[in-house]
Amino acid sequence: MEKITILGAYGAKGFEQESSSFLLTDTHAIDAGNLLRSLGEDAAHIETIWLTHSHLDHIVEIAYILDTYFTLRCKPLKLMGLAQTLEAIQKHFLNDVIWPDFSKIPLLNDEGMCVIYENIEPNIIYKIDETTSIEAMATVHTVPSCGYIVRKNGSAVLITADTYKNPLLCETINKYPEISALVLECTFPSAMGSLALESLHLTPALAEEEIKGVKRDLKLYFNHLKPGFIDTIKEELKASSLLENGHILDDGDTIYF
Ligand SMILES: [Zn+2]
Ligand SMILES: [Zn+2]
Repeated sequence: MEKITILGAYGAKGFEQESSSFLLTDTHAIDAGNLLRSLGEDAAHIETIWLTHSHLDHIVEIAYILDTYFTLRCKPLKLMGLAQTLEAIQKHFLNDVIWPDFSKIPLLNDEGMCVIYENIEPNIIYKIDETTSIEAMATVHTVPSCGYIVRKNGSAVLITADTYKNPLLCETINKYPEISALVLECTFPSAMGSLALESLHLTPALAEEEIKGVKRDLKLYFNHLKPGFIDTIKEELKASSLLENGHILDDGDTIYF
């Protein structure tokens, strides 16, 4: 069975919670909500980050792995994402105002710059190594965003990232029989449906509606709970049918597919 480590499982940082990040291989991650505390010095060896979108809880530690591990890094950090996501990071984050523009700073230990940006497009399969590939799926959020299908040795997991209800979700799962697990965000309690709609996130009630169209059994993993609402969201998920074959993710968990 294939697996991925959850470096950060939540929709923001809390007293004991870290924000969204997944370790795919020793050198590839999806999102950068938490790299340093989970990986320690190994974070210096992350070479490629596949970004879902430009929100802070998904990008914040890009700033710190570049800075804190500046003397240890031997390769450029490749930031992969939709063109609008990478543009937002260059314009509003690594812009020499909020944090240095590391695409203009040479590596200490090798040729080239500290950061390279590479646009990706949905529905194209990018190879990570001999056994692993990744493909973006457009999602429904307040900024341009995507989830990812990660395939390893013929098996796959779909990680939705931040999204509201998305017709592509069922369509994609029904189209690709190799998807055996789904990581679905569940950000707010069901009573906060109007905030979920405004911020384009899911609640347990919306997640239940979203899953109805899936035509086969999948392992379900829920993430991106807002730290302030963890207890309520957990109670609601437990009271629903969603945890029959499902699990609420915590920092450090492993997902299997
Ligand atoms: Zn988020
Ligand atoms: Zn977001």
